[in-house]
Amino acid sequence: MPKMNSATAQGKSKSIHSAKVVAARAAALLASAHRKSPTELLPMPERVHGREELRARTARWRAAGESIALVPTMGALHEGHLALVRRAAELAPHVVVSIFVNPTQFAPNEDFGRYPRTLEADVAALEATPAELVYAPDAETMYPEGFSTRVVPQGGPADGLESITRPHFFGGVATIVTKLFNQVQPDIALFGEKDYQQLRVVERMARDLDLGVRVIGVPTLRESDGLALSSRNRYLSFSERHLAPVLHRALADAAAEIAGGAPIAAVLAEARRALDMSGFTVDYFEARHAETLAPIASPAEGPIRLLAAAKLGSTRLIDNLAVPAPAH
Ligand code: AMP
Repeated sequence: MPKMNSATAQGKSKSIHSAKVVAARAAALLASAHRKSPTELLPMPERVHGREELRARTARWRAAGESIALVPTMGALHEGHLALVRRAAELAPHVVVSIFVNPTQFAPNEDFGRYPRTLEADVAALEATPAELVYAPDAETMYPEGFSTRVVPQGGPADGLESITRPHFFGGVATIVTKLFNQVQPDIALFGEKDYQQLRVVERMARDLDLGVRVIGVPTLRESDGLALSSRNRYLSFSERHLAPVLHRALADAAAEIAGGAPIAAVLAEARRALDMSGFTVDYFEARHAETLAPIASPAEGPIRLLAAAKLGSTRLIDNLAVPAPAH
């Protein structure tokens, strides 16, 4: 029998694995059509807590030349997270989901202590997805005794917006994402457009520091009334939940007005005023260049993204939306 060269072997092994994932997904669809639980047919994701166990799994895949996608999360998973996992499986044969509530991205006055921790439910939710590995490291693995290094994005997409109210935030995110990239060594990593500035900051960092990971953005999943899915939505009271979609509506209205030629500064001022009147406390409501996040004064300067953060009671909501390109 002719011997395969290693590239052919790798390609073959990759396509066999992809075929397995595709087959599992097809079976899941079939099962749901027959009202059987799709989780019976998708392979159970394996749960690992230690770096060494993780390395053993990923080394096997890498040795076979198979690519790895990482979906970093803080858990309390919802359909928005699962959309990232499903997209990841379309792009790579192996999907690792990390779950870690990262203390360094919370300021002392923020919600680290009460952030939802629902590992069992998260793993159960991932059973209905093509995730293969759940990496849930403990605090000691991520921040061992004496830990004293920090990756701090400065300038570029990290300027302003979240950094004004949460100056510690991107330092915490960049440090943990760098560690996760080093531990998992993925080929690609998926981040939600829901946290648009974070997506751009991580993309920039991966490029600046030659991390060798392709960062991919995934569109925001929303409730039917427009509210972006978020682990923090569970903090909203009944009346706050009713009001919350006003943030998305304000973004959509402002985007339509700017696309229609209205002056940006006036549109933003009106949106802030309308949100204040509705009971929000607005942190920011701004127009930025969609790729660089540089401030932008006119659609002629490039594609525009509107980004907003506002508090409803004690819950801080963030959201963003693209301004459609002006019709020529
Ligand atoms: P978190 O657990 O909140 O840190 O989020 C983990 C990842 O899921 C981040 O890349 C988020 O941007 C992404 N994500 C959170 N909510 C949504 C959503 N509604 N739609 C799409 N992605 C989301």
